[in-house]
Amino acid sequence: MSSSAFICMSQLYAPTLREDPQEAELASHKLLLRAGFIRKMASGLYAYLPLAWRSLRKIEQIVREEMDATGAQEMMTPILTSAEFWHQSGRWDDYGPELMRISDRHDREFCLGPTHEETFVDLVRNELRSYKQLPCTLYQIQDKFRDEMRPRFGLLRGREFIMKDAYSFHADRESLQKTYDDMYRAYGKICERCRIEYRPVEADSGQIGGKVSTEFMALADAGEAELVYCDCGYAADVEAAEAKPVLTICNAASCEKVLTPGCGTIEDVANFLHVPQNETVKAFAVTAGDGQGFVLFVPGDHEVNEVALDHLFGNWHLMTEEELEANDLVKGYIGPKDISSKVKVIADTSLQAQHKWICGANEPGYHLVGAEAGADFDIPRYGAIAAAQAGDLCPECGLPLKAARGIEVSQVFQLGTKYSDAMGATFMAEDGSEQPFIMGCYGVGVSRMLAAIVEQYNDENGICWPVAIAPYEVAVIPLSVGDDLLDPLARKIAYELHDAGIEVVLDDRDERPGVKFADMDLMGFPYQIVIGKKSAAQGQVEVKTRATGEREIVPASEVVALLAEKIIAQRA
Ligand code: ATP
Ligand code: MG
Repeated sequence: MSSSAFICMSQLYAPTLREDPQEAELASHKLLLRAGFIRKMASGLYAYLPLAWRSLRKIEQIVREEMDATGAQEMMTPILTSAEFWHQSGRWDDYGPELMRISDRHDREFCLGPTHEETFVDLVRNELRSYKQLPCTLYQIQDKFRDEMRPRFGLLRGREFIMKDAYSFHADRESLQKTYDDMYRAYGKICERCRIEYRPVEADSGQIGGKVSTEFMALADAGEAELVYCDCGYAADVEAAEAKPVLTICNAASCEKVLTPGCGTIEDVANFLHVPQNETVKAFAVTAGDGQGFVLFVPGDHEVNEVALDHLFGNWHLMTEEELEANDLVKGYIGPKDISSKVKVIADTSLQAQHKWICGANEPGYHLVGAEAGADFDIPRYGAIAAAQAGDLCPECGLPLKAARGIEVSQVFQLGTKYSDAMGATFMAEDGSEQPFIMGCYGVGVSRMLAAIVEQYNDENGICWPVAIAPYEVAVIPLSVGDDLLDPLARKIAYELHDAGIEVVLDDRDERPGVKFADMDLMGFPYQIVIGKKSAAQGQVEVKTRATGEREIVPASEVVALLAEKIIAQRA
């Protein structure tokens, strides 16, 4: 796929920085800035300099090839989308301040597309008329705009970023499932060809809606997403996973009220009572959007799943001190027995197995040990409200789950008829009736992927690009310039590599070797050919593999063939 390229370092627009930029916390953000790949133009807005652009084009090309292989058709729609469609879908109001809105000179409203469901539904609703034209999958690779609350981490969360977005239209669910499965496989291949270590995880489908969704997570400690996974192959975003906590069953003979002075947290209570935290029960007091107070009980070693609460309550927040007081709740000592009638109670499903609870006594300074469900208190409602964590049981095989962090690089959704219903997009079915399109949508964060790759491929000296994504594959580094022997040899090797279809940077700068080595390591080209005076006189050069630091002395006459073979084998 690679089109060969050649550039001299003296000409390359890749301004490097000596120091780590202050605003950058993550390796990818720091290194892409320092190595001269990107420049910040404003908060969340970046210029992709030539090196980044070359790597981005490689990612795009991989995405394009895998999309084309599924039969999806590439096209392009305007970034500016009319508010009219967004009103029809209901998202003009739902999307909130993340949607970048503008008006034209006639005061007509538009937004800069954060995703393009509306555009594509509008496009096909008048033109895909019959089931005979289905299924149909269309895609584009385009800049998207989201006025993120916290644009940060460089390309990982920009306000303008490159996305591949695809939309599929179907006559029935089976057809959607088939395309979804094809896309799922294609997304796996995209990650593999980009050399991203990833896991597909069950996802919450968030703003876009629909029922079935998978996120592809690049594994990275810097990732914002928390996942749980199992060796059996199960993996889920903690937000989407149904927790199966392991409890220690409480065997207290009777219900006792115990003075627990200064035990405001579960940890304090468990330590004080000499019981494990998972034998206790933790309470969260929240106020739902309509003002109703709720007390939520989960196993003591767990947190609540905030996304589950979003689904339950829409808007909600943890109760303030005033709200706790107004609802007659005692901070740190909330329990189900004789709880204030002003609040409603929900307990996590797992607590159905805990007949006797260690919990707050609704009295300052006191806990109950052995309060019995059904006798001392009643739980009117159970639900899946605890957040999954490492050590919980795998819902598929029952073994303990492990936890990891990830960067969401792409996501596939089965949308169903959400948008076609809202926007009145129908086709004529085989029986002659008008039916709404059944839809899927599929997004790849192309620019986020670039940063995710850097997160996975870096060391203390800089980036270590996999060949498949590297902006150039080889750096040729003569250790001095203007030398009668080195100059022609370096140029000869560089030109021959270029002729062999390899992408080459020739470091022709009149700089000290230390400066050249540091820059080449920072930029991370996969192979360096170092040409020194002494070895050149003996017809030898040194080949350094950036990722491993391995060095090899090779006859100058063989280096091109040797590297060309290695590199071509590693291309995407
Ligand atoms: P997140 O949860 O990280 O905000 P999202 O789930 O809202 O992302 P999608 O609507 O699924 O994002 O968009 C498809 C893909 O676009 C994501 O998988 C991600 O790779 C990329 N993406 C989304 N928001 C951004 C952003 N602000 N900057 C860079 N890439 C992004
Ligand atoms: Mg997503």
